[in-house]
Amino acid sequence: MENKKYKVIIVGIGLAALSAAVRMIELGIKDIGIYMKSYGGTPYIAAINFVLPDNPYGDTNKQYFDDMINAGYQIGNINLVNEMAENTMNGYNLLKRWDIEFAKNEDGTTKLRHLSGHIYPRSLCSTKDLIGVEIGKKLINKLKENKVDIYEGYECVKVLSDSKKIYGITVKNSEGNLENLYSNIVVAAWGGIGNLVGVSTYPHDIKGNTLAIAKDAGAKLIDVEFIEYEPMVILSPQGALGEPCPTAMLGEGGYLINSKNERFILKVRPQGEAGASKTLLNKQIWNEVNAGNGSKNSGVWIDLRHIDRNILKSYPWLFKRLMDNGIDPNRDIIEIGPMAHSFSGGIEVDENYESSIEGFFAIGEACGGIHGACRCAGNAASQAVISGLLCAQAIAKKYKDLQQTIKIFPMEYKSDKNIYEKYMPQIKEIAVKALGIYRKGEILEDAKKHIENILKNTDIQKDTETLQKIESIYYIVKAALNRKETRGTHIRLDYPEESKDYKKEFTI
Ligand SMILES: Cc1cc2nc3c(=O)[nH]c(=O)nc-3n(C[C@H](O)[C@H](O)[C@H](O)COP(=O)(O)OP(=O)(O)OC[C@H]3O[C@@H](n4cnc5c(N)ncnc54)[C@H](O)[C@@H]3O)c2cc1C
Repeated sequence: MENKKYKVIIVGIGLAALSAAVRMIELGIKDIGIYMKSYGGTPYIAAINFVLPDNPYGDTNKQYFDDMINAGYQIGNINLVNEMAENTMNGYNLLKRWDIEFAKNEDGTTKLRHLSGHIYPRSLCSTKDLIGVEIGKKLINKLKENKVDIYEGYECVKVLSDSKKIYGITVKNSEGNLENLYSNIVVAAWGGIGNLVGVSTYPHDIKGNTLAIAKDAGAKLIDVEFIEYEPMVILSPQGALGEPCPTAMLGEGGYLINSKNERFILKVRPQGEAGASKTLLNKQIWNEVNAGNGSKNSGVWIDLRHIDRNILKSYPWLFKRLMDNGIDPNRDIIEIGPMAHSFSGGIEVDENYESSIEGFFAIGEACGGIHGACRCAGNAASQAVISGLLCAQAIAKKYKDLQQTIKIFPMEYKSDKNIYEKYMPQIKEIAVKALGIYRKGEILEDAKKHIENILKNTDIQKDTETLQKIESIYYIVKAALNRKETRGTHIRLDYPEESKDYKKEFTI
C-alpha cells in the first residue's frame, strides 16, 4: 500500500482546526488532511470574545490585553497575549468572511455579553443555537466544498518525529486499524485534557493522553499545572448535571448566594459578581463550602429569578435544559459549583504557534502559555480562532516552497484492555487526590513517587493508551509540585500566597 502524504496534516476538527483550515484555503494551501476522532469541545461553545471597533464601552485592544494578563495572574506569555489582542479583528473578520453571523440587538448593533475576567462586555454569541454548533456546521460544509479530506473516527496515537523535525502521524481508525500518514507539517488541534483528573465537562473524544504524545515527539510542555475549573456548573438535578451556567449570567444580573442567602462575592468584590474572574469565583465558592455554607453537593446557588424571562430565553440551550429538568429559573434558585472544564497548559509554542520541533504546530487548547494561570471566560474560543489563523499564515509564509522529506516509521501502538483496567482506576484516584481544587506539596510528592513506581512495571508497555495517560498525569503532577506558590487556578495549601519571587513559567 502506498503511503498517504499531505502538505499539511491537522489533528482534530474543533474551532482551532477549522480556523486554521479555512485560512489555509484562503492562502492557497491545498492538500490538507484532517484526521479527527469527533467534534471536541467546540459544539459546546456559547461565547467568543472580540473587541469590535464600534463597541459602546470604549473597549480597546490594550484593555483586552490587560484583562488577559490580569486574569492569567501575570504569567501569560506577553508576546502571545499581545498577538491575540492585536489580531482580535482579524479573527472576527475571518469568521465573517466564512459567513458566520453573530446575534444582534434590536437596534442592529452586535449583542455583547459581560463574561468573567473582562472589564467590559465583549463576548459575542448566537441566540438561536450554541455559536460553536453554528460555526462548526458551517465551516465543515465549506471545507468539504473545498475538497479538504476529512477523516472522522481516526485517533492520532503517535506523532512521527526525530525530535528535531516532523514527519507525520500514526492514526488508529474505529476498527482499530493503524496507518501512518506523512507530512513535514503537522498541526496539533486536539484540544485539552479531558477526564484525566476525574469528572469534568469535557466530551469523551478528548482523552488527555495527547500531552504524552506531544512530549514523546520531543515537544516541550508549558503551564500544565493550570487546570481550569468552571465555577458555575450545574450540580442538580441529575438531568442537568454538568451543564455550565455561563458566567455571562452574572453580567445579566445573576447573584451567587450561599445557604444563608448571602451574596458572598460582595464580601471581597463590592462592585458585584459581573466580570469577576473565574479564579475569584471558584475560590469564594470553595470558601463558602468549607465554611459550611455550601449546598448538599458542595456548591452554592445562582439566583436568576429576578432576570427578565426574554433574557433567560436568549440562552436557549440552558433555558431548555433547566425547564426540561423541572427548574424554572424565574422561580427556582439553581445549585452550581466548580468542575474541571478546560486547560491553560499544553505544547509550548512561539508566535507562529510552532513548537520547538520544526513543522510541528499546536493551536487552540492543545497549546499553552497564553492564558497564564487562569483564562478569561470565552477566550478559549477566541484563542482557538486566532491561533488557527496565525498558524495558517505562518505555514503559508515559512513553508511555502517546502519540499517534503519522507522518512518511513514503524507503526507503534499496543492495546490490552486488562492493563487499562489494572492501572487506570488507581492512577485516576491518585490524580483526583493530588490535582484537585486544593493542592499540597506532600500529596503531590507522594503522587509523583507512586506514579514513578507504577511506570516501572513493564506490563504497562502492553497498552499504549494507559501508558500515555499515566505519563500525561505525571507531567501535570510534576509541574504542580514545581510551582511552589498559589497562583490562579493552582492553589497550594502549603504556599497560600502568590509568591513575589515566582518563576514565570515552567516547561517540562
Ligand atoms: C461544556 C463546555 C462549554 C464550553 N463553553 C465555552 C464557551 O462558551 N466559550 C469558550 O471560549 N470556551 C468554552 N469551552 C471550552 C472550549 O470548548 C474549548 O476550549 C475549545 O473547543 C477548544 O477548541 P479546540 O479546537 O482547541 O479543541 P476542541 O474543540 O476540543 O477540538 C478538539 C478536536 O481534536 C479531536 N481529537 C482529540 N484527540 C484526538 C486524537 N488523539 N486524534 C484525533 N483527533 C483528536 C477531537 O475529536 C476534536 O475534533 C467549553 C467547553 C466545554 C466542555
